[in-house]
This record gives sequence, C-alpha cells and structure tokens, in this order.
Amino acid sequence: MSQQIIDSSLVEQAILDSAPERADRLHEILEHYRPQFAVVPDSLGFVLKTKGNLIKFNDKTMKTLWMLAHAAWRIFECHSPHVLLAIRRGRSITELMAIDRGIETALASFEELLYIVQGAAKAGSASELEWPDDLPSPSADRSTISVKQQATFDLAIMATAYVFLHEIQHVIFNKDRNAPAAGPALELACDAFARDFLLAEVRSYAEKAPRLPISLKRLTFAIFARLLLARPVWSKKVDLILMKRAMAVSLGSFFVYEITATAVRAGNQDYPPFADRFETLIGKVDAKENSDFWVFAATLLFAEVRRLNPRQSVRGKSYREICIAAIDAIRETTPEVVIANR
Ligand SMILES: [Zn+2]
Repeated sequence: MSQQIIDSSLVEQAILDSAPERADRLHEILEHYRPQFAVVPDSLGFVLKTKGNLIKFNDKTMKTLWMLAHAAWRIFECHSPHVLLAIRRGRSITELMAIDRGIETALASFEELLYIVQGAAKAGSASELEWPDDLPSPSADRSTISVKQQATFDLAIMATAYVFLHEIQHVIFNKDRNAPAAGPALELACDAFARDFLLAEVRSYAEKAPRLPISLKRLTFAIFARLLLARPVWSKKVDLILMKRAMAVSLGSFFVYEITATAVRAGNQDYPPFADRFETLIGKVDAKENSDFWVFAATLLFAEVRRLNPRQSVRGKSYREICIAAIDAIRETTPEVVIANR
C-alpha cells in the first residue's frame, strides 16, 4: 500500500465536534484551500506532516495519540492531588509524593503507557505496539466504555482536531505564500492558529449553547469526583467549556512533544524549543487562575519534568505558577543537541 487519500469529512467531523461554533470558518477554509488527507504506511518514527495541500499521517501515529490521551488522564489522576495540596500547604510536589501511600500504583499506571509511547517510534507498525488489556481500542463503542474513558475519548478527539488544525495552517500558508520564514516562527504560527481556532470563540458559543454537551457533563463529573474533597467549586458554563478545550490543546502540544525526536526538543533551525511552545500556549489561555485547566496542564508538565530528572521538583503559589515553574525546569533539563545543517 502506498498512500491512501481519505474522505476529509472524517477530519472535519473531529474539528466540528470539538468546536461547533467554528463551522462556517472551517467550511470556508476547506472550500478555499482544499486540504487533502492521506494515510501512509506505518514506518519507523512518526508521520504527521504537510506538503502543499496534502496532510499525511499514519495509523501508528494516531494510535500513539490515543494512548497518550489515556496516559495524560492517568497522569492527571496521579498528580492532581499533589498539585492541589502543593498550593494549600505551600510544599513542593515531590514532598507531597513522598507522603502519598498510593503513589507507586498511580505512577505505574501511566508510566506503563508512556513507556509504550516512547517505544512506538522504534516500532515498524501499529501492530507491534503492546496494547494494554485495560486500554479501550480507538474503535471501541463509546457507549460501552467507562465514564472516565469516555472523558479521555473526548479529549483525544479534541487533541486530534488540534493537531490537524496545526497542519491545516501549513496548507493555508502554502497556498497564500505568506508564511513566516520556515523554522521556529512558522511552527509557532501554526500552533497559534490551532489554539485560537479552538479557544477564541468559546465565550460567544457558551452564551448561545443551551446546555452543556453530555460529554462535557461527564468530564466535569469525572473531575469533580476526583477533586470534590480537595476543592468544591462551581464553575460557570463558559469556564467549563474553556477548560475542556484548553486541556485538549495542552494534550495536543504534549503529543507533538512526544512524537518529536528527543534530539530536537531543545529546538533547532526548524523547530522551536518545546518549552517555548508550551509557554506560548500557557500565556494565551484565558482560563481563570483556579481553573482545572491549570491543574491538568501542571500535571502533564510535572510528569515530563520528572521524566527528564526524577529528582527535580517544582512549586508555585498558584496552579498557573506551577505550570510556569515546570516549563522552566523542562527548558533547563532538555538536552541540547547540536545538529548539523541538513
Ligand atoms: Zn508544523
């Protein structure tokens, strides 16, 4: 099999499910720029790239995104109590982990998935990925999986929308010939487009949306069930929608980070350092200081800090500050690899 062009309605649906209020803009873009989507054979490494108006990806790359969404949810479950208590008690996350009796099991549940994700780059095809028994397949019937997994399912769809929107901006630049010079500025511009597409019109959408979509209620329920004892709050509809979208955007960024070769995570002539990408994202998210978005982002970022240096800890006076501290720690620890010009 070489590449197989797929019906763009599949990608269109993922984007519309994620941001229904942007339907008109999306249709305009699809009509004018005519992006095409092609599934290419699995191979070593990951494929998610654009040439002209053709966006290529493969099965293994998308399955990795799915697995990472589940890993992210488990990271959130493991570290959210630490992040919440870090603020309340003014202690570092590592100090709180030391007194958490369930820590070993909680760490093992996501480290297992991250290990598979990490090995995915070296697998020749998706069939070589060791699929854990407790992980639903991406094609599972949504109504038969647990509430928690449904919430993860929705996040995975939205993160998929985010990564395709990033590629669609490449298509737009390619046609309009107005891209910033290739390299870090181009990648940051595509990130910004994807982020703004999902977040910019949430406020007007929330005013018109008659009620919360069911999936959002489920996600909220799952989060509240987890956080109820620590911090009972009631958020407005707009904050909940914004939170879920922003969580998906941070998951999308985390995914792009994961599929980027370790050697270029510190940045090179083509890609910005990942710390910068996260920082740009965090800087633009219009979520309240106490939003669960910050807790979610902080747990993902902290898990990465720990992977780079298990002894490193972070602290901050707010959830947002913990995110910033984690980004700084990632920047300092990411190995810088000098790469010769291609
Ligand atoms: Zn790109």
